[in-house]
Amino acid sequence: MDFPVIIVGGGPSGTVCSIHLSSAGIQHLILESEKFPRDKACADILTSKAIRELNLADARLIKEIEKLPSYQDIWGTLLKIENNEVLDIPYHALEKDGEQASSFAVRRKELDELLWNEASSKPFCSAIDGEHVKHIEKKQQGYEVKTRNGISFRTSFIVLAAGSHNRLIKSIGLKDKEAERHTAIGLRAYYSGVKGLKKDRCELYLRKDTMPGGFYIAPLGDGSCNVNVVLRKDLVKRKDLNLREVMAVCFAQDSALAKRFENAVMESAPIGQSLHLATIKRKKYAEGVFLCGDSGGLIDLISANGIPQALCSARLAATSIAGIISGVYNLEEAGVWYGMELERTIASDMKMGRMLSPLMGLSWFNALILGALSRGQGQGEGGFMQELLYAEEPWKALIQKLNPLQRTH
Ligand SMILES: Cc1cc2nc3c(=O)[nH]c(=O)nc-3n(C[C@H](O)[C@H](O)[C@H](O)COP(=O)(O)OP(=O)(O)OC[C@H]3O[C@@H](n4cnc5c(N)ncnc54)[C@H](O)[C@@H]3O)c2cc1C
Repeated sequence: MDFPVIIVGGGPSGTVCSIHLSSAGIQHLILESEKFPRDKACADILTSKAIRELNLADARLIKEIEKLPSYQDIWGTLLKIENNEVLDIPYHALEKDGEQASSFAVRRKELDELLWNEASSKPFCSAIDGEHVKHIEKKQQGYEVKTRNGISFRTSFIVLAAGSHNRLIKSIGLKDKEAERHTAIGLRAYYSGVKGLKKDRCELYLRKDTMPGGFYIAPLGDGSCNVNVVLRKDLVKRKDLNLREVMAVCFAQDSALAKRFENAVMESAPIGQSLHLATIKRKKYAEGVFLCGDSGGLIDLISANGIPQALCSARLAATSIAGIISGVYNLEEAGVWYGMELERTIASDMKMGRMLSPLMGLSWFNALILGALSRGQGQGEGGFMQELLYAEEPWKALIQKLNPLQRTH
């Protein structure tokens, strides 16, 4: 069977790329390993940039997402550093003077199923779930895509949106060996019966011994919450850590937290996943193959967010393919444009992570950062963390705060 475009992976980057391709009238096929609804390790938070990308794909999507059972508007983060007091960091609305929250939480199981249904219901899209892609082979003209079930497809373009751990990236020669500090590992569990959850606030717990990384709680609209821990892989290896134990220690070290979770019930065994950090610039294109979302290694070190970049890369891959098909670009030009435009769009958000990445392997530097963040406490709503969140150039604000001569508070 022939399709002009094959998208491998039906997560947010694959389905949103599909929606853009359908809008451009381009026939395509999405192949997804698992059957929907399927679970996915994530903190379940979509930020303003993800919301804007969803709106660019289809302005109706947000209204549909708001109806999902676990949907919850998020208006701020409660930050606790070591054993200091909790700092409330409120968020601005999505638009100035508007009423829509700039962030929301929703279970990925629900979100991804909705996006899959939306994408697959559009004209120009064929979609098969439960069909794992085993092999991609370059042919004289285009590619052959073979599935585990023995089905074979021919295509001119591939959008590789298969998440972080897949061998396909290597098979098309786009993945080299990398230092461990460019990968993180995350573990997520759902709990119900947790006391003292603030409905519209996430909770972030930072400690020197789990940096670079953190422990995070996101409240969900169905009364449960998402609890997750994300740590950089070099730290995990150096200290021989087990993420389940780290999660248990995070509860145990904080007596207030332990009390709130004493009667809580974990829904099912936690699930984990690796995250390829954007702290290294990777090649994201090879002769008609576009790497999107986690396959392109687009996770921000500072926030562990990847969905905004996944959706942006999906839109740009669809634009590049439309450009080739309509004759605006040749293959090579489209690949160059894709890489450059993606980098231009995400660079400012990735800058702080990229700058701090080498230093965050040093415990004294992490102590310095936590000290700078703590110094915001008691300076009114949000303190320094809120200043950082909305600073035009957050890394400059941070460097200034790290300057010992500035330590007046
Ligand atoms: C613990 C944790 C917390 C996180 N928290 C957040 C957060 O709060 N906010 C945020 O923005 N980001 C967060 N992220 C990152 C976010 O989950 C990813 O950036 C996002 O899921 C990327 O979407 P994707 O479509 O590229 O990949 P995925 O969501 O991983 O989707 C890839 C899909 O491809 C399928 N697939 C894989 N291999 C094949 C194959 N061979 N054939 C066919 N299909 C295949 C998979 O089954 C999957 O459905 C977190 C990640 C982790 C691990």
